[in-house]
Formats: sequence, C-alpha cells, structure tokens
Amino acid sequence: MTPVPDPRGRFGQYGGQYVPETLMPAILELQEVYARLCHDRSFQQEFQACLKKHVGRPTPLYFAKRLTRTLGGPKIYLKREDLCHTGAHKINNTIGQALLAQRMNKRRIIAETGAGQHGVAVATVAAAFDLEAEIYMGTDDMKRQALNVFRMQLLGATVTGVNAGSRTLKDAISEAMRDWTTNVRTTHYLLGSVLGAHPYPMIIRDFQSVIGREARHQILEAEGQLPHCLVACVGGGSNSIGLFYPFINDPQIRMVGVEAGGLGLDSGQHAARFSGGSPGVLQGTMTYVLQDQHGQINATHSVSAGLDYPAVGPEHAMYHDSGRIHYTSATDEEALQAFDLLSCEEGIIPALESAHAIAEAVKRAHTMQKSHIMIINLSGRGDKDVDQIARMRGAEF
Ligand SMILES: *Cc1c(COP(=O)(O)O)cnc(C)c1O
Repeated sequence: MTPVPDPRGRFGQYGGQYVPETLMPAILELQEVYARLCHDRSFQQEFQACLKKHVGRPTPLYFAKRLTRTLGGPKIYLKREDLCHTGAHKINNTIGQALLAQRMNKRRIIAETGAGQHGVAVATVAAAFDLEAEIYMGTDDMKRQALNVFRMQLLGATVTGVNAGSRTLKDAISEAMRDWTTNVRTTHYLLGSVLGAHPYPMIIRDFQSVIGREARHQILEAEGQLPHCLVACVGGGSNSIGLFYPFINDPQIRMVGVEAGGLGLDSGQHAARFSGGSPGVLQGTMTYVLQDQHGQINATHSVSAGLDYPAVGPEHAMYHDSGRIHYTSATDEEALQAFDLLSCEEGIIPALESAHAIAEAVKRAHTMQKSHIMIINLSGRGDKDVDQIARMRGAEF
C-alpha cells in the first residue's frame, strides 16, 4: 500500500487541513519540523529512551489463560497499555509531542481535555520535561472530573475553566485554538488523539505505533507466528491505530475497532460514528461525524468518557470505507459485563474504554478456531472508573 496520508494530509477523501488562516503558520511549522524529525535518528532514539524511562516500555504482551479457557475460542493475548505510567496509552503520544515542542523551542504547551485523562498525561510530561502547561476544560467537565483537575494541579499545570456554550469538551477546544492563534511563537498545541488537522493524525499515529511494533515482536517471540485477529476500542482512534498500523500490510490479519454503543444504536444515545454518522468536517479534519441533516453535531453518550466523542480519526474513516478494518460497537451493558469478566478471570481491572474491546472478544471467540491467536489492546486500567461503577451499583461514600 502507498503510505498515507498523502503530502496534503489526505487519507483518501478524508483528513486535510480545515483550519482558519490564522492557524496555518503554526500547522505548517509543525508539519515541516515533523517531516524532518520523523527520519532523524537522534530524535527517534531520544523518543525510545524516554518511552523506556518515563513510561516503563515495553509493556508486556500477556497471555490471558483463564479468559481464553472461559471463552473457549482463540488464544487471547492482552497488550498491557494499562501498565504504562499514568495508566493508559495516552502518555506515549504526550511524550512524543513534548519532545517535538522542545525541538521547536516552545516552552509552553496547551491542551484541552474532556474527562481529564489527556490533561493528566499532558501535565505529567510538562512536569517531567520542564514545560509550562495550560489545560482548557469546560466548567461542567471540571465539576464531573474534580479529581483529575486536582491531579493536573498537583502536577503543576494550570487548569483553565471554559464557561461558554455547553461548558464541555468542544468549548474547551475552541478556547485552546484561540490561545494557540495568539501565542503560537511560544506555544505547542498538544492534541490527544488521531484527530484534528494534518499533520496531527499522522504524528499521533506514528507515536502510538510503538504499541503494534512491540506486539508484533512479542507475539512472534511467544508463538512463532503473527496473530489472526486484533481488537481495540475506538474513541478518537489512537490506541487502535497504534496497535493496527504495524500490521496494516498483512492482509490476512483481521482488525476490529470497537466504538461505544452506549444505550444501543437504535436509542440514538451512543458514539458509534460508523453506524450513525456520515462524512463531515469537525475540528479541522474531514471524517465520519455524528451529525444531523443540517450538519449540527449530535449529542453522544457512552458509559466511558474516553469513547464519548462525535468524530473519529480520518485514517479510520479511510480504512472503514476500504474494508481494511472492520468497525463494530459494544453497548454500555456489554462493556460493564466485560469489565467484571476481566477483573474476576485475570485479576486485571480494565478501563471502561478497554472493556469495550474485551466485550467484542466475548462475542467473537466462538467464531474463531482454538489454534488461532487474538490480540486485544488493553488501552488503560480501570482505577479511574471504580468510583463511577461503585456509584452506579448503589455504593455510597
Ligand atoms: C482516551 C482513552 C481511549 C480512547 O482514545 P483513543 O484515541 O481512541 O485511543 C481509550 N482507552 C483509554 C484507557 C483512554 O484513556
């Protein structure tokens, strides 16, 4: 396959750079710097060294023996991104972009966060790399995620509440964009998933591809063969593309992305962009978006905040249309059952996002041969979700 994106940042008809004129200089600078650094050995070596030192990479590829036995299907391996520092894969990308900021001589990073997980990963690298961090967050989200706001502040970041519009993620994005336009000389905008204008979806895919490169090496070592199936949850799409991309040119390997089915696809309360969405432009890129016939963005719902977003990365949109990756969804209920299953069977409490991928393995296991191999990306650990689940089940604190 020819490498994507093309020089204009297109993944087929998706992707591109739908940004205001005032942001183009910043986007072009990032594009030029990355075009150089992605082939620069010293940069890549520094990135690998930081992943080892700060994140604890490589993460294990873990054979889930009891889960395999219980489901009675293929051999199931878990790629343990839950063991990354800060508890999820997001830090792979924030480390890479912190290094980019340093190379651009930008001492300040800004970001927006909804649930706060990306904000915590940004605040963590800002502390570790001696950068100043300002994180925009809707004031409603700040109330819902008070503990993560406190974590970011502990780490020395400034959390700026956005008291406009719906007081959630999309308002925080607008505010961060305004900041970037004003302070572009000193400031790098650190995006959290494979979204936004080119070159972000490419850069973040490249940084997260360490997941799939390690998994490829590890499964060959453990089994002497490549896997038959890869499964990962899809919010913006960074952990999934990180696992899938290093296998994308192996056409025999089936890849399954799992979106948030929320209360069910018929309910309208979900974040399944490929079932309920259509191509449109959101946040600087052309991709599948949950929108009404007038292009107004639909409200989304998922039990897991990390999957609850109306757009998906443009590279996924291309693989969806070409059929290279198969997309499905798991409902809140299915994810919660998978959450319990993995906790009891393996002693691993998964993030609710990752539980969506486990739920797909439960559905798919009986369709596969026992000699086959499935790798599931365990994108994060569930400590952050325990409180929410306890309350849902009636616990009082
Ligand atoms: C943020 C998050 C996700 C969703 O983001 P992607 O970009 O789709 O990977 C999934 N799992 C965990 C644990 C997360 O924190």
